[in-house]
Amino acid sequence: RRADALAHLSGPGRTSDGAEIALLANIGGVEDAVAAGAQDLEGVGLFRTEFVYLSATKAPTVEEQTEIYRGVFAPFEGRRVVVRTLDAGADKPLKFADLGPEENPALGRRGLRLSAERPDLLDAQLEALAIAARETGADVRVMAPMVATAEEAAWFARRVRENGLPKAGVMIEVPGAALRAHDVLGEVDFGSLGTNDLAQYTMAADRMQGALSDLLDPWQPGVLDVVGLACEGAARADRPIGVCGESAGDPLLALVLVGLGVSSLSMAPSKVPVVRLALSLHSVAECQAIAEAARGSRTAVDALHAVREAARSEL
Ligand code: PEP
Ligand code: MG
Repeated sequence: RRADALAHLSGPGRTSDGAEIALLANIGGVEDAVAAGAQDLEGVGLFRTEFVYLSATKAPTVEEQTEIYRGVFAPFEGRRVVVRTLDAGADKPLKFADLGPEENPALGRRGLRLSAERPDLLDAQLEALAIAARETGADVRVMAPMVATAEEAAWFARRVRENGLPKAGVMIEVPGAALRAHDVLGEVDFGSLGTNDLAQYTMAADRMQGALSDLLDPWQPGVLDVVGLACEGAARADRPIGVCGESAGDPLLALVLVGLGVSSLSMAPSKVPVVRLALSLHSVAECQAIAEAARGSRTAVDALHAVREAARSEL
């Protein structure tokens, strides 16, 4: 029955009552972009630019970067591409952006913190993105990783606009930023929840430790509460917020996220059809009831069971 329903569905993500929820791809380079671009999805919600440079020994030039970004944007003419500036450090070290050893790299000078210490790297990247965006017809938006405060968001937005890029956003993946999403998102055009890091920092559980996977589970009610508060802050600031962590590709969790207030879901492209199906079977009010059932649970396992009960049996 599910396979049958999947085959008949296409086009933009929509709830059963017609609310638009953009279905987007997480990608790591040109090859991913070409493959995702050929699929029935609305664009890219997370281009992890650091993936392109994991083995680079020296900083790529503006010209070298422009060529890559052109290749990523070209398949998405008329569609959105959300680019994340280099998220270097911790689990994604880059040789040319190494600030030396740290006791706690996940809590260290990573993501936007590293960009603040190496603005030359950020500016070269923004320049290349602006050139490639102008040359292709993609709707390019740029966001920063590991933002913790409103000041950081404002600093980033200013640099993005100075480089002639029209839309700046931030990832919400630090609990402090999630709790103050109203202030943080007030400085930018949009937010994107990174539930992988948000779970890591909310539950104080290293995402590289397989033994801690129960704590890192995005079904943890504590994580869902932080996501819910971030969505409330985004609504107060009148800014759209989406999810680009792995949780967006879980059809049941996607219903919870929509019920909490997100308006886009970015995931591995292979997950898009089943998430599209899940949305098509539920109204916004049903998603809200599902989200309440999840947040009303005492454990991650209970939250999953409650949502399985509340969602349509086709899932
Ligand atoms: C996240 O943290 O959820 C995220 C999407 O980014 P990454 O997994 O690349 O840190
Ligand atoms: Mg992250």
